[in-house]
Amino acid sequence: MFTYHSITSYHAELLNGSVSCTDAVHFYLQQIEESKKLNAFIHVYADEALTKAQKLDADRKAGKPMGKLHGVIIAIKDVICYKDHPVSAASKILENFVSVYNATAVEKLLNEEAIIIGNTNCDEFAMGSTNENSVYGNVLNAIDQTKVPGGSSGGSAVAVQASCCMVSLGSDTGGSVRQPADFCGILGLKPTYGRISRYGLIAYASSFDQIGIFGSSVSDVARVLEVISGPDSFDSTAAPNKVDDYSNVSANQNRPLRIAYFKEALESPALDKEIASKLFDFIDRLKADGNTVEPVDFEYLDFIVPTYYILTTAEASSNLSRFDGVRYGYRDVDKKTGVYSKTRSQGFGWEVKKRILLGTFVLSAGYYDAYFTKAQQVRRLLVEKTNLIFNNFDVIILPTVPGTAFSLGEKINDPISMYLADIFTVFSSLTGLPAVSIPLFWHNNGLPFGVQAMTNRFCELSLLQLSHQWMVKYK
Ligand code: GLN
Repeated sequence: MFTYHSITSYHAELLNGSVSCTDAVHFYLQQIEESKKLNAFIHVYADEALTKAQKLDADRKAGKPMGKLHGVIIAIKDVICYKDHPVSAASKILENFVSVYNATAVEKLLNEEAIIIGNTNCDEFAMGSTNENSVYGNVLNAIDQTKVPGGSSGGSAVAVQASCCMVSLGSDTGGSVRQPADFCGILGLKPTYGRISRYGLIAYASSFDQIGIFGSSVSDVARVLEVISGPDSFDSTAAPNKVDDYSNVSANQNRPLRIAYFKEALESPALDKEIASKLFDFIDRLKADGNTVEPVDFEYLDFIVPTYYILTTAEASSNLSRFDGVRYGYRDVDKKTGVYSKTRSQGFGWEVKKRILLGTFVLSAGYYDAYFTKAQQVRRLLVEKTNLIFNNFDVIILPTVPGTAFSLGEKINDPISMYLADIFTVFSSLTGLPAVSIPLFWHNNGLPFGVQAMTNRFCELSLLQLSHQWMVKYK
């Protein structure tokens, strides 16, 4: 029987011949079949995955050197392009659309011999926090099927949570990797803005969007990050900064850290009492283990959600104008109103339409300065404040979400409360910082939750090292 711990141990087993890539694919296809009810996958590429596994097994036996992700079984969110495979952003407007090229991240996975086993369900155009805005229906949390898995990358999170793949890719614009990781009890990393190319990632809000990684161990997430990071001539926002040896996660153990937390966040009345008290206990343990942990004032907490929703809806209204029924995807015509209005009214779901309207409003001539310009100014203030904090600290910790996984349907008719629950994840999205949700805790209600850690821009290596250290010591 195939069992999985980490890419490193899987590779050792492949080399000593006790398992094969084909065994792994059979195992995950079975898991996917048994977890069908969770609705995490949209398409499963069973035959292809098996063929590829057989080829890798033959290559290895013939003595060919193994790629960094040789035979690693990966699922990708339905916003990431994989040539000749369907991609729809979980929207009717892209129904039957097939990718004509690979996203750079996918190209890099394939170059290192990963096996992509399927694409995963998500909120339409990555807009949402519960995976309830998908044309393919809800995804269920495997720990408690009356709960949402979080969103928007809910399917990718559940694919790892329910052992349907080894690692998965999601996208994180304002928390869509960290929040579902928190709700599902797994690791979720959003790298620095610009760390991974966005080429081939369907855009929601381009100055925020980043591909993120789900996994159950830090070393797995680190290895995938190392493979898919780096500059790209197809994306001018992909940073030229050197890609560190991220896999080196177990170095620097026990180095004392200078840790900051936002007083206003941990004392916020919106934060679940038990989450707050467990995080304060955690802070005490960090201090007892030699770290410095200090509160810093963060007077902008109330502004970050409005700023995020003004800027992202503005960017979305522009990005989504390309879906017009002329070039690709769904098309419908009305005799009176023509193609655009009929196609877009029928093709987009309610949440997406709401955000396009909101974004168009904040960009309109009369309101541009009052909303869009103002929000850009707040974003700049947040970046300046963050730079000051990192003069004195190595890491900032925050809760990932104010509460544990919501019940299905609980927040769908209360968008303000749903948006406000993004309060702790949107900060690093506005400032471009790398951030990870580390699954360290269980609530008395039986659900998991994580702590969110952030380092300075492009300091993923230290973020991964401390995540590894905390998983070993405190999980
Ligand atoms: N919940 C947030 C939103 O709906 C985050 C989405 C995301 O990160 N893609 O905008």
